[in-house]
Amino acid sequence: MARTLGAVCKRCRREGVKLFLKGARCDTALCAFQRRPSAPGMHGFKRGKMTDYGMHLREKQKVKTYYGVLEKQFRKYYQMAERAKGNTGKVLMTLLEKRLDNIVYRLGFASSRAQARQIIAHGHILVNGVKVDIASFLVRAGDVISVKNRKNSIEFVKSALSSMNRERPEFLVNNETEIPSGVMLRDPVADDVSIAVEPQLIVELCSK
Ligand code: SF4
Repeated sequence: MARTLGAVCKRCRREGVKLFLKGARCDTALCAFQRRPSAPGMHGFKRGKMTDYGMHLREKQKVKTYYGVLEKQFRKYYQMAERAKGNTGKVLMTLLEKRLDNIVYRLGFASSRAQARQIIAHGHILVNGVKVDIASFLVRAGDVISVKNRKNSIEFVKSALSSMNRERPEFLVNNETEIPSGVMLRDPVADDVSIAVEPQLIVELCSK
């Protein structure tokens, strides 16, 4: 499981964009990026002009950090996207969006992708009624994602749902059931990604 070590807020400041890595804190005035949007480090306030390579690299690092994916796994997604039909950059973003941890987060079952990875690893999440404890599992259109029928699991997810204050994407729908569940209606597309990304820059970097 990908782990983000160290001060995660520095990553938002490095990328110059809010990556929502800390759950509920990200929407409050305590957000480090809101308070200090400069890059981390003593010279962070004077961001120099970025090189062409730097621009490409930062785009890739931003996406990796946003989805909590390590380099080796990211390369695998890139290879899968390259082999698939269609625009490689768009397919890459679709693959990342289809990860189970992302779907659980975007359904509102967890307040961050890191928390989603944790509840998946602890066996609280079912896909089509079967426990799936692999965060990188790729959800397919029509799959039903639900919570284990256990008091603790249901209470945890209900509390995350009640405090959710971000928009749910159009490709996901939550069922009004006693046990929280949701369905992925269709494959996500590049427009469903909730941060501004230029996948073409990543493709240009990775294809070298
Ligand atoms: Fe990023 Fe959230 Fe930290 Fe703000 S609080 S800097 S959005 S991780």
